[in-house]
Amino acid sequence: MTYSDNILYQVSKPARYTGGEWNSLVKDWDKTNIRVVLTYPDLYEIGMSNIALPILYELLNSQPDVLAERVYAPWPDMEAVMKKAGIPLFSLESKHRLKDFDIIGFSLGYELTYTNVLNMLHLAQIPVLASERNDSHPIVIAGGGCALNPEPMADFIDLFVIGDGEEVLLELLDSFRDWKGKGAPKRQLFHQVATIPGIYVPSLYQVEYQADGLVKSITPTVPQASPAIQRRIVTKLPPPVTKPVVPYIEVIQDRGAVEIQRGCSRGCRFCQAGIIYRPVRERSQSEVLQAAGELIANCGYSEASLVSLSTSDYHDIDQLVTSLSHHYHNLTLSLPSLRIDRSSVRLMNSLPSHRKTGLTFAPEAGSERLRRIINKNIPEDEILETAAAAFDRGYINLKLYFMLGLPTETIDDIEGITQLVDKVYSLGRKAKGRRPQIRVSLSTFVPKPHTPFQWVAQEGEQQLNAKHELLKLRLHRKGIRLSWPDPKLSLLEAALSRGDRRLGKVIYGAWQLGCTFDAWSEHFNYGNWLGAFEDAGLEPSFYAHRERSLEELLPWAHIDVGVTTAFLKREYQRALDGRETPDCRHKTCNACGLQHWQPDCQQKYQQLSPSQDISKD
Ligand code: SF4
Repeated sequence: MTYSDNILYQVSKPARYTGGEWNSLVKDWDKTNIRVVLTYPDLYEIGMSNIALPILYELLNSQPDVLAERVYAPWPDMEAVMKKAGIPLFSLESKHRLKDFDIIGFSLGYELTYTNVLNMLHLAQIPVLASERNDSHPIVIAGGGCALNPEPMADFIDLFVIGDGEEVLLELLDSFRDWKGKGAPKRQLFHQVATIPGIYVPSLYQVEYQADGLVKSITPTVPQASPAIQRRIVTKLPPPVTKPVVPYIEVIQDRGAVEIQRGCSRGCRFCQAGIIYRPVRERSQSEVLQAAGELIANCGYSEASLVSLSTSDYHDIDQLVTSLSHHYHNLTLSLPSLRIDRSSVRLMNSLPSHRKTGLTFAPEAGSERLRRIINKNIPEDEILETAAAAFDRGYINLKLYFMLGLPTETIDDIEGITQLVDKVYSLGRKAKGRRPQIRVSLSTFVPKPHTPFQWVAQEGEQQLNAKHELLKLRLHRKGIRLSWPDPKLSLLEAALSRGDRRLGKVIYGAWQLGCTFDAWSEHFNYGNWLGAFEDAGLEPSFYAHRERSLEELLPWAHIDVGVTTAFLKREYQRALDGRETPDCRHKTCNACGLQHWQPDCQQKYQQLSPSQDISKD
C-alpha cells in the first residue's frame, strides 16, 4: 500500500504518514515469521514522543524472526481522505495493511485516547469488538499505564500486558511462535498465555454486578486464568535505546531521550506512576554517558532529556550532569521532573551556565498543609529558595504545576497558590535581567486506581470552575500566564480511569457518535459522551464523583501491582491525619507490599544512595 501524492497534498503535515524516517527499520516481510505493529493511538507528533514504544520497537526487531513496525492515529483530515479513497490503515515501514500483521500492540498512556483505538481498528478494517474478531484477525494487545485498570477497554483488547513489557513480551512471543506453528485456534493461544504472569486475557473472566451497580465479583472462567494478575517488573533496566527513529517533522519531545531511572519512591499520594512503576531502578552513569554519545552519533541530536519520574532523585545526578556536560560540550540537557527543593538548586549549579532552557517545578498544592496531605512535603521557604536560585542563575521562564480539587482542599489552599506565585514572581522581579515569565499550569485532580486516593470523589465542575475563576482574577498580570484544561475532560478521564467493564459500551457508543481525539479540545465533544453514557444506562458521576467505601470491590481489584491495598488504606488514613510518609529510599521501608516480591528492595536502595540525605543539603 502507499499514499499517492494526490492524497498527501490534501492533508496537513504529510510526513506524519510517509515513514522512511532516519533509523526506521524495514525487515523482509516475507522472510519474517512474526509481524507486529506498534502504535500509540494519537497523532504522530504525540506518539513519536512516547518513550516506551522505541524500547519495544528495538527489542522486537532484535529478534531474528520478528519484525516490528509503527502506525499512529491519522488526523481527521487524513481519515476523511482515506475513507473516501477506500484505503485501509497501513504501517509506516513496509506499508502493509494492519490486518495483515499477526499482532497489533497499543500503548495506552491516557484514557482520552481510547476512542482512537476503536477508530484505528475500524480504519484497519478489523472488527472493533474482540468478540467479533475471528482466527483470521490479528491479536490485539495493549499495555501502558492505563492497562493497570484494563476493564473499560476489555471489550476491545484480546490481552493486556500488565507492567514492564520487556520480558513478558518475549514470553508472549514464545507462546505465539509455538501456537502459530500449530495453526490452532486463537482460543488455545489465549488459554496458554493466560498462564504467563503479567498477561491478562479479559475474555477469560466474568464480571458480575450488584443491584446498586457496584462490582460483585470478578471471576476467571477457565483454570488457566489466575484470580489475580501480577504486574511484571524488570529487575534491571534493559539497555537504553540509542538508535530511535528520528522524525522528519517537529514532534512534542524533539530531542534524544535516555531513561536514567524507572520508578519513584517519594510516595506522592495522588500519583499513580509512583505506585505502578515501583521500585526505583537506576541506570549506571557509565551506561547513560555511553547512551548519550551514541544518541548524538546515531541521530544527530544536540539536546537530550534525562528521563525519569523524578530526575533530581537519581543517586548522583550532579555528577552525571557534570560528566555529560564535560563529555558532550554542545549537548543541551533537558531535566524534566525536577523537585522544587534544595537538591534542584544543587543540580542547577552543575548545569553549564550558558544553557538555560526554562525550568519546570510542581509544588502541586499552594499550602504546606495540603502538600503534607498529598505527601509532597516541601516547605514554602525551600520552594522560594529554589526559585530565587533559578532566577539568580539567569533562568527567566519558570513553569509551576498545581493541581486543583485535591482531597480536603479549601479556598485557603487556593489563596495559597496565588500567594506562592506572587512571591515567586516578586523574587524574579528582584533578580537582575529581564522580567520573569511565570507559567502557572493548573490541572484537575483525578483519583486514580492503585493510589491512596483511589477511593476519593473527584470534585464537581462548579466548584472547580469557581476556584479557577478566583485564580484567574488573582493572577491576572503581565508576566504570569495561567492555563487550565476543561474540567469536563478531567471528569471523563476520572470516569474512564476508575471505570468497570460496562464502560466498554460507553466508549463504543461515544466512538459511534463520532468521538475521536478526545484529548484535543477542538475535537472533544462532551455532549456525545453524555449521550453515550445515557444510552448505556450509566452515569459518569457514578464513576468520577462518588466516594467509594474502603470495602468496595474495585473494578481493578484483580490487578495486583505489588503494592497492597492495606498499604494504600494506611496511606489514605495518614493523608486524612495530615501525616507525612518518608521516602523509603532514604529512610526505612514503609512496607508497601513490594517487600513480599522483592525482600531486598530497601537494601538495593541503600546501595544506590551513597548516604545521600537531601534534607541535610
Ligand atoms: S518495599 Fe519498602 S523499600 Fe521497597 S518500594 Fe516498598 S516501601 Fe519502598
